[in-house]
Amino acid sequence: MSAPAAHNENGDEFNPYLQMRERLDKTAEIIGLDPGIYRILSTPAQELTVTIPVRMDDDSLRVFTGYRVQHNVARGPAKGGIRYAPNVDLDEVRALAAWMTWKCAVVDVPFGGGKGGVICDPKRLSTGELERLTRRYTSSLLDLIGPERDVPAPDMNTDEQVMAWFMDTFSMHRRATQTAAVTGKPVGLGGSRGRREATGLGVALIVKESLEHCQMPQTGCRIAVQGSGNVGGIAAKFLSEMGHKIIALSDVDIALYDEKGLDIQKILDHLAQHHSLKGFKGGEVIAQEDLLTLDCEVLIPAATENQITSMNAPDIRASIIVEGANGPTTAAADQILEEKGIFIVPDILANAGGVTVSYFEWVQDRIGYFWTKEDVFERMEKILVTAFKEVVGTAKAKNISPRLGAYCVGVERVAYCLNIRGVYA
Ligand code: NAD
Repeated sequence: MSAPAAHNENGDEFNPYLQMRERLDKTAEIIGLDPGIYRILSTPAQELTVTIPVRMDDDSLRVFTGYRVQHNVARGPAKGGIRYAPNVDLDEVRALAAWMTWKCAVVDVPFGGGKGGVICDPKRLSTGELERLTRRYTSSLLDLIGPERDVPAPDMNTDEQVMAWFMDTFSMHRRATQTAAVTGKPVGLGGSRGRREATGLGVALIVKESLEHCQMPQTGCRIAVQGSGNVGGIAAKFLSEMGHKIIALSDVDIALYDEKGLDIQKILDHLAQHHSLKGFKGGEVIAQEDLLTLDCEVLIPAATENQITSMNAPDIRASIIVEGANGPTTAAADQILEEKGIFIVPDILANAGGVTVSYFEWVQDRIGYFWTKEDVFERMEKILVTAFKEVVGTAKAKNISPRLGAYCVGVERVAYCLNIRGVYA
């Protein structure tokens, strides 16, 4: 049976899974991918939908829906975060799982791709409700997960505490502490030093490589960042320390702008206290959508999917886009941005610092020996710089965009493993 078409009948620009498929289809054509291997790679290997009953604080029972998708495990255990958000859906989780397969292959860490999500609004849950939801969700995944099978991590609205509950629940069922079952845990509970900063620092390092590649200055660039969480906030902090001006930063509530550069440390302190940019004194409040079209050297979408689309791509004025978020640019927007000559570093390379250090965490948990933060950052930088050069080199050699260059590198590595292992068909 052939794989389902990459477009639904509306040619849906906003379905992340179809967007992923569109890029995979182009890649398959460029590298001459075997049609059988293509069919395997265009479909997730396993999907689980679970209902999660949770006893609420008022003693009522609510039932949430959760997912875990393993896209491909040819290169190693599935790896990928868990997202808690009201708009999680199965196609989003499928896309995120596939992007993890390509991402792990691009940075050449021995993992496949997976992702999980629970439909919920964590802002409206108490700590106790969040813990019970996490534990019940974890217990529903017991047949799928484990250090050798599928290793979750944090994503939007999940953090070190959620990972600690996840690890504890898994360990209780296995009757032994299994720190390598999940990454992004607190340091002191098998977490890696530097994991919290890894994705944001990785984004900043990729900005540095991109500026060098585009022969632009290494300080004083105007940078706009959408999203001020683990990825956007931390990337903004490192980039301002490198001497750039963060002229805009946003969260789900508001966007702030200052042409002279925002005080990022003050903003992060405000966020730590208030969990929102609202009320921050400093910078002008601008419309959320205007942040993306500001006149700047570098734009970092670091919030969520489908932010740069065929609607706003013609107005983008940045010279470089570094995708901190997963799937922030639609395939239709790619084409417009390419025609405008914008250099785009795709998500599966740009935000791969996180999974690289998650890999380090898994390694450290398995050997029971922990590295310094300097060791972690040095090894991460080496991996990211190598991957950047491989992706840009492939793009140049094949005369394609860096996005397709990254897909070519990733998909070829996965296809190699599938071929050499042989397909158990
Ligand atoms: P987070 O929950 O820490 O932060 C998300 C930020 O985006 C918050 O500031 C939130 O207010 C903002 N936001 C959400 N929706 C928005 C919208 N529609 N408009 C503007 N701002 C919005 O999440 P995170 O971990 O920083 O993840 C952000 C993105 O990066 C996601 O796409 C995630 O999959 C991806 N990512 C995260 C990691 C990681 O290690 N955390 C690794 C790789 C990729």
